[in-house]
Amino acid sequence: MEIIKPRPILLIDMDGVIANYYARFLRVWQMLYPNRKAIPLKELEGFYIESCYSEYPEEDIKRILTTSRFFRNLPPVDHAIKTLQEIIVDPAFDSFICTAPDIEYQDQLCFSEKAQWVEEHLGKEWLHKMILSKDKTLIHGNYLIDDKPSIHGVRTPSWKHVVFHQKYNHTEEIIKREEFRLEDWTKWPTVREALLNHHNTN
Ligand SMILES: [Mg+2]
Repeated sequence: MEIIKPRPILLIDMDGVIANYYARFLRVWQMLYPNRKAIPLKELEGFYIESCYSEYPEEDIKRILTTSRFFRNLPPVDHAIKTLQEIIVDPAFDSFICTAPDIEYQDQLCFSEKAQWVEEHLGKEWLHKMILSKDKTLIHGNYLIDDKPSIHGVRTPSWKHVVFHQKYNHTEEIIKREEFRLEDWTKWPTVREALLNHHNTN
């Protein structure tokens, strides 16, 4: 009897992957502090913005990142929307958005603003496929597309990390251990093939 493998579960992070968290920060930062240093995304060395702007008060950065409407107004990452519209109808995967809410965010609005963002940019269908979890290691899946250099939690993840390329995750240490890297959303067809090939041969 032929055993049919269930299709792989694809988890997709939001910030820095489909929603351009840093672009929004930069816009607000430059508006509030036009005379301060502003680092372009392509030159951002650290995952945590505070670490890249350590000469300035941490509260100034936190205030921008945790004030209501910040998440709501994130611009989409290039080609993310079009690609996710393709992914949702791709029969090869069961796909979900998997995002960690910021619990420091004003009035806990981060949860609803993330959902509103998804509905506005991707449509209601994706709202049914939205997982909010502070700990992504608890979420079952085969692949997680995420820009965070290292993802830890209370369990060993069931998923393989597909590193969504950013300068801060393009380090020798990460390159050495990574199996998959998505340079940007235009490269999805190639990575898609690689993931399906991996899934079918493991
Ligand atoms: Mg992220």
